[in-house]
Amino acid sequence: MKNPSNVFCFILKQQLLELADKIGYVNTGLKEEEISRCISKIKGSMKNDLAPNKPMHVDNKCSICQEEYEDEGDEEMGKLCCGHSFHIQCIKQWLLQKNACPVCKTEASPR
Ligand SMILES: [Zn+2]
Ligand SMILES: [Zn+2]
Repeated sequence: MKNPSNVFCFILKQQLLELADKIGYVNTGLKEEEISRCISKIKGSMKNDLAPNKPMHVDNKCSICQEEYEDEGDEEMGKLCCGHSFHIQCIKQWLLQKNACPVCKTEASPR
């Protein structure tokens, strides 16, 4: 006959393991709402107007997927507080995994 308290212990252990997984996840990546807070959305067609005096950000391609931005069109891009910008979908995926700019490693959402 099974000892019910052992079963309970087993379940508790499983839950703790799951919790540990979640905590680990949160420590390295960001949550959706944090991501939307630290990305400023810009349209691809606006990118040349944004920082005409900052020669450091004239990258024409997304450093995450290595695809060039479309010159015209309304491609949506996300700009981090460090000034680097990427395809909005690329940087969102990235920040889910890691709270850092792929280029300069600046924390995207300092805490
Ligand atoms: Zn991209
Ligand atoms: Zn950066």
